[in-house]
Amino acid sequence: MSLNKKSVDDINAKGKRVLVRCDFNVPLKDGVITDETRIVAALPTIQKLINDGGKVILCSHLGKVKEGPNEKESLAPVAKRLSEKLGKEVVFVGDYNVTGEAATKAVANMKEGDVVLLQNTRFRGAEETKNGEQFSKELADLADLYVCDAFGSSHRAHASVEGVTKFITAKGGTNAVGYLMQKEIDFLGNAVENPVRPFVAILGGAKVADKLNVISNLLEKCDTLIIGGGMAYTFLKAQGYEIGKSLVDNEKIDYCKEMMAKAEKLGKKLLLPVDSVTIAEFPNPIDAPVDTVVCDVDKMPADREGCDIGPKTAELYANAVKSAKTVVWNGPMGVFENPTLAAGTIAVAKALAETDATTIIGGGDSASAVNNLGFGDKMSHISTGGGASLEFLEGKVLPGVAAADDK
Ligand code: ATP
Repeated sequence: MSLNKKSVDDINAKGKRVLVRCDFNVPLKDGVITDETRIVAALPTIQKLINDGGKVILCSHLGKVKEGPNEKESLAPVAKRLSEKLGKEVVFVGDYNVTGEAATKAVANMKEGDVVLLQNTRFRGAEETKNGEQFSKELADLADLYVCDAFGSSHRAHASVEGVTKFITAKGGTNAVGYLMQKEIDFLGNAVENPVRPFVAILGGAKVADKLNVISNLLEKCDTLIIGGGMAYTFLKAQGYEIGKSLVDNEKIDYCKEMMAKAEKLGKKLLLPVDSVTIAEFPNPIDAPVDTVVCDVDKMPADREGCDIGPKTAELYANAVKSAKTVVWNGPMGVFENPTLAAGTIAVAKALAETDATTIIGGGDSASAVNNLGFGDKMSHISTGGGASLEFLEGKVLPGVAAADDK
């Protein structure tokens, strides 16, 4: 799918102030960045704008900022790491107001090819998250052009993603998407709208309720839909099986029945677990040792909890992946945080690593599982945005994409 939106290749950044919304929402531990994937993913767009002689003003959110601006959620460590990656100075404006005097001054001092990083946009609280006009305008006032490259935030109509574009347009500027946005949409879009078949979609994770629309939409697009993780038990209950103490959403049983009927009507394969790894009590902490018993789904005792797909299911799922030409995967197959309950997730990751199909990992937990297992470089594409990729798979239009100017 080619995106019919203006990209960084369609703008002339020379001498212009370009505001780039990145997704620098990286995990931090004691002020140290533990995974720089999102910084690395942002580099091609930033480098392109530097090479073109733009004045590159970067902004992003970091964390949830529940208790107001604070040093722990400052973007200072990102500025430092980014500067190392680019091999040039990144001027960090640490002002908690994000925009304002300090930012304006830093931008006024920029020369062509310079890079400035503003402070965490969520430090402006609801002004950012509720798409506030004043903050949107203040951001736009700093720039001539705007580029959205924050795929991981593109499902949110926030001031730095959406609101700002209106004010850029009002002053005759262009709103474009960056290379990362293009790449994400190309992979996910092609997979869903124009897949090389057979197209297998794998969904896991905790709850059916989180993925209702994804299940329904993917059933229409794929050839085989594989369900694992905690969400599988609501389907198994809908099929009439005893599921013991496994995670269940009783309000969604009818929905699962509907989806099974929909699969049958459309002639799609819907694969559900045939066996489970069960435990007596949920581990606390989550990676505490557990005793497991493997049960076929028709022999699950009422006092046990299914926490991973069993070995027969893992084989069934791996075989379904083998013949696929396109695979999209979102959500772990079990409580993978516990090494004893990670085998199903590992088996699926391994199957994806071994197939020659186009393999797309939809962010979130499945992305970290694949990376932690060392399979990252075996996948065709690992999305940088869990929530955004899910909404895309639901068939929703992402506000960050919609806000960019058409070609
Ligand atoms: P994200 O929301 O980060 O994108 P995701 O979409 O990959 O993640 P979630 O729906 O958040 O997945 O679910 C992941 C969680 O589901 C993990 O913490 C895992 O432990 C849990 N989980 C998976 N299988 C089970 C199960 N059988 N019982 C209970 N919890 C489970």
